[in-house]
Amino acid sequence: MPADHSPPADRPALYAIARETLTLCAVCKYCDGFCPVFRQRDAVGGDDGNTPPAFRDADVDWLASLCHGCRACWDACQYAPPHAYAIAVPQTLAAIRQHQQTPLPALRRALLPVSLLLSLLLPLLVLGLIPADVVFSPHTGPGAFYAVLPWAWLTGLAGATLSAAALLTLWRIRIFWRHIGGGRLTTADWKTGLRQGLTLTHLDHPRRRRAHHALTGGFGLCFAATAVATVWHHGFGWIAPYPLLSLPVALGTSGGVLMLLGCAGLLRENRRSAAAVQTPARDQTLLILLALVAASGLALLALRDTAAMGLLLAWHLGLVLVLFLALPLGGLAHAPLRLAAILKATRLDRQRAERSRKEPERAEQARKKPEKDDDGG
Ligand code: SF4
Ligand code: SF4
Repeated sequence: MPADHSPPADRPALYAIARETLTLCAVCKYCDGFCPVFRQRDAVGGDDGNTPPAFRDADVDWLASLCHGCRACWDACQYAPPHAYAIAVPQTLAAIRQHQQTPLPALRRALLPVSLLLSLLLPLLVLGLIPADVVFSPHTGPGAFYAVLPWAWLTGLAGATLSAAALLTLWRIRIFWRHIGGGRLTTADWKTGLRQGLTLTHLDHPRRRRAHHALTGGFGLCFAATAVATVWHHGFGWIAPYPLLSLPVALGTSGGVLMLLGCAGLLRENRRSAAAVQTPARDQTLLILLALVAASGLALLALRDTAAMGLLLAWHLGLVLVLFLALPLGGLAHAPLRLAAILKATRLDRQRAERSRKEPERAEQARKKPEKDDDGG
């Protein structure tokens, strides 16, 4: 049976291993051209060729958030298991990211079952409060959804949960930014960092990159479908459900299919990675939740004229609410934290470029100074 190379769950032990791993990489330097994790190491200091950098927890957190888990360094590493050093950069940095995303260990272990149980609360509430003949009757035409779930419930619950999740996420980004020493950004830093983050510039793994783009593109289309439906509802008084060949349904359907494809692709890649590096598959709560949201939305579209619509609508909304709640705590927190890490790296790249541009000028000034001194003397 192959040995298990999972990083430890204990936080101090995990950070100690991450520090050792990054220190060995700083000495080895073989992967320096692979990605920003290795290239940005200079910013941590100690790159005078004699002393390895002294990685603080904040440095480890920052570098871990720059890693896309492409596995290029794993495939290249001569110190990977079965070597006695057992260097496993992608796995170690992934474990660090998991600690950042879901800081409470108990919640980290139980996020998926807790999320699924919470998603059932709304269907149970509907069953308890709405008469059974309303829930289990087919409803058609404008306002069919609101016959089961009143409009005020729908918008009130979604609005309150999304606002709470957005505030908590912003608060977490602010703490992370200070923790990693993000610093002051210029407009150019923002432009470059956002472009690199959104286009996954540093994710050198075509299958993962495609799956990521499918998932984020699908998520964006579903968001656009909701925005268009809101404008139609409030701006024109056109009440859902809309015809199959309408803009919100077309956007939502293509978004749901893309999300499913993206989730399936990423789940498959994660399983492949886990098998290749002999570690248990990492927590997949976010991907499973996103896939369930997309699948329940598509099922609701297919069965919206039947007696199953009431409970399906309640479960779909329950899953959406749980996904919102999981935003700041689960794997989705990794997107804004990664963007913050990229923005810091962009600032450092710009400052390094400015310094090297000024270097000849400084050298010239230093060369002229002794000449002046000689003239003066
Ligand atoms: S991952 Fe392995 S090969 Fe790459 S820099 Fe680190 S120790 Fe060297
Ligand atoms: S897994 Fe890929 S992104 Fe992560 S450190 Fe290795 S080469 Fe860089």
